[in-house]
Amino acid sequence: MKIYRARVLNIISLNKVEDFRNGYVAVDNHGKFFDYGEFSDSKLNKLKRVCPDLEVIDFTDYIILPAFIDMHLHLPQFHLRGRYGVSLLDWLKNHIIPAETKLTYEEQAHSYIKAFYEELYRNGTTTAVIFSSASTSFTDKAFEVASELGFRVILGKAMMDRKYLSMGLKVENAQKAMHDSIKLYEKWHKSKDYLFYAFSPRFAPATSEKLLKLVGEFAQKNDVYIHTHLAETQEEVKLVKKLFPKYKNYTEVYYRTGILGPRTIVAHAIHLKESEYKLLAKTNTKVAHCPSSNFFLHSGQADTQKMVQYGIELGLGSDVGAGPSFSLFTIMRDAYYVRKMPPPEAFYYATLGSAKALGLEKYIGNIGIGKDADFLVIKYPYWCRKDSSTDILMSQLMFLGNDHLTLETYSRGVLKYRKAN
Ligand SMILES: [Zn+2]
Repeated sequence: MKIYRARVLNIISLNKVEDFRNGYVAVDNHGKFFDYGEFSDSKLNKLKRVCPDLEVIDFTDYIILPAFIDMHLHLPQFHLRGRYGVSLLDWLKNHIIPAETKLTYEEQAHSYIKAFYEELYRNGTTTAVIFSSASTSFTDKAFEVASELGFRVILGKAMMDRKYLSMGLKVENAQKAMHDSIKLYEKWHKSKDYLFYAFSPRFAPATSEKLLKLVGEFAQKNDVYIHTHLAETQEEVKLVKKLFPKYKNYTEVYYRTGILGPRTIVAHAIHLKESEYKLLAKTNTKVAHCPSSNFFLHSGQADTQKMVQYGIELGLGSDVGAGPSFSLFTIMRDAYYVRKMPPPEAFYYATLGSAKALGLEKYIGNIGIGKDADFLVIKYPYWCRKDSSTDILMSQLMFLGNDHLTLETYSRGVLKYRKAN
């Protein structure tokens, strides 16, 4: 067993945070949190009686936080961040689709993917919901590397069978896209307790009704995640209206084809009518709110207040590469700029809220006895007093924090990243 002494900030709910100033977390040999709270000698002696060979690691000048969860990002866009685009569809056509097309990367795939997961670890993120490219072999490799690095993924091959946005891409037909996705699902889904497959129709403009229905039917009969995009821009909403004339709106396209449900994550969900919020709530569909990406592409901003009112569960996503930053600190700050939210609420969406939305709150999301020991250790920033109140500390971390703060990241009790001196 290992005991890490630090100031421990733990997220309990939307508006409840635990703050142990002279705190500790105890991690057992299986990588689970064994105990945590305010440190004392009597506590240490008690733990020593349970585990005589325990090791104490002193981070008393540091802060421990639950590890972050990124609810939406794109692996093949790792190298495409910060590329200016006039609009979502323009950006996809000019920068993203052509580059993803070239992403066979057979030789470089391993190092490319490894660098991507390492960047997540460097940012204190240990779980992510990830779009791969349309390549089956690249997606297979993405799982292989996640398995090697112990990175928790909800990952899937992008499914695209419509020519419109697939310029240059070898367009698969719906059956082939489905067949290859099922093969990947059978090979990887829950093959380890941190690997999950997500069927990933890119978004309605890139998929046929037939493909959406195939995914929907499969999801009715099987335990699967579905990951897609919804109503990111007005231009896209108009396009969907044109491509799917018999449906009342964008959300209804997904609803009628069986795409929505409690294991479905839709990114963005910005340009929605009242009836669409109702459909998301009725189907218990989850939303990945990606404020940095939405600022970057000037897509509009999601009405998360309305989502909360409807009881729609949400988490925060970086949406790399439209989102320039992997840092959930930055995403939390941008979420605040979209809508005033108290820091504990933003931290909740970056951790436990996402875990709940993914149905994984029994295992991850915060510091809890028996949960996987996923946490990060951050330096006390020079701009923050050590005797700051909980509110001020969280607020400053949210507005001023970034990737540079991470000293170490642990997943299931294993050190995954340590900042070089
Ligand atoms: Zn996206």
